[in-house]
Amino acid sequence: MNFFAMAIIALMLSFPGAAGAEWYKGNTHSHTINSDGDSSPDIVARWYKEQRYNFVVITDHNYNTDVRGLNALLAAPGKFLVVAGEEVTDRFKLSEERTLPLHVNAIATDQSRGARTIGPSGGGSVGEVLQRDVDSIRAAGATPQLNHPNFRWAVDVDAMHRLRNYALFEVWNTSTNCNNLGGGGYPGTEALWDSVLTRAKTVYGVASDDAHQFKDWGPEYSNPGGGFVWVKADTLEAGAIAAALDRGDFYSSTGLRLERLEISSRRILIESELNGQTRHRVTFIGRGGRVLYQTDDNPAVYEIKGNELYVRAKVVDSNGRVAWTQPVFVE
Ligand SMILES: [Zn+2]
Ligand SMILES: [Zn+2]
Repeated sequence: MNFFAMAIIALMLSFPGAAGAEWYKGNTHSHTINSDGDSSPDIVARWYKEQRYNFVVITDHNYNTDVRGLNALLAAPGKFLVVAGEEVTDRFKLSEERTLPLHVNAIATDQSRGARTIGPSGGGSVGEVLQRDVDSIRAAGATPQLNHPNFRWAVDVDAMHRLRNYALFEVWNTSTNCNNLGGGGYPGTEALWDSVLTRAKTVYGVASDDAHQFKDWGPEYSNPGGGFVWVKADTLEAGAIAAALDRGDFYSSTGLRLERLEISSRRILIESELNGQTRHRVTFIGRGGRVLYQTDDNPAVYEIKGNELYVRAKVVDSNGRVAWTQPVFVE
């Protein structure tokens, strides 16, 4: 099914204003030669357009890449858009031996009066650095996304829980060294997510590329295409996309596409697009990361009981591709 057909599939969500909205596929994290990527912004944007993404956010380290000229060339109404952004790239020196990287994406920065870099704010602790960066991103009118918490094991559950004024974090970062799955005594990003949700704090999981290499391809490179979001938004416009992400009106994926996603306070229905002999397994997860229900049915339906605190779903297909839906909190 192509993305035009995907876009018109009926969706029932519990939030108002969903009528008329459409699904848009995008990547919220990519680099160019304006930081440590290997390709020009033009090549990067064209790659995503040719792969039939609807949007890509250019997020160079401490550099606000100007996307206005790119959009003059490449934007197509309702089909493709380059979204301005920046990876606010900060750090905290824990000791002489250990400096923690603290990176927060700014999504949909305002370039109406030029491309102005936000840059790192610094601070006296991990929490202060992250908070000042999130706040400066908000002050610039952009939407923050806490990147790769497990990159050099920098951001733990307490930091994620204390941080205010953000909703997005990377549950999946496709680049080569972000330790999504955890290990060596550190929890994976999904376990971090459940720990934060169990403390009744709403955060939404993003899958992103963090693409750096568009010329050389292979397992040692951070190539594009491995992690993306499907966003339900009224229009393909930078502000609308960022607002929909910030509200949790999206799901994340490493390649699995959903045909139907119905989330209400009473039940969750998930139907995967499964081609040929591909099958899936859907796990519904609640308080403490506990499995509430697991099924191979397609569609998969979970009736909310009321005592789960929250419910989110993880879909894994028989070829290892994953989709994550956003948590719904139960009254
Ligand atoms: Zn980073
Ligand atoms: Zn990055």
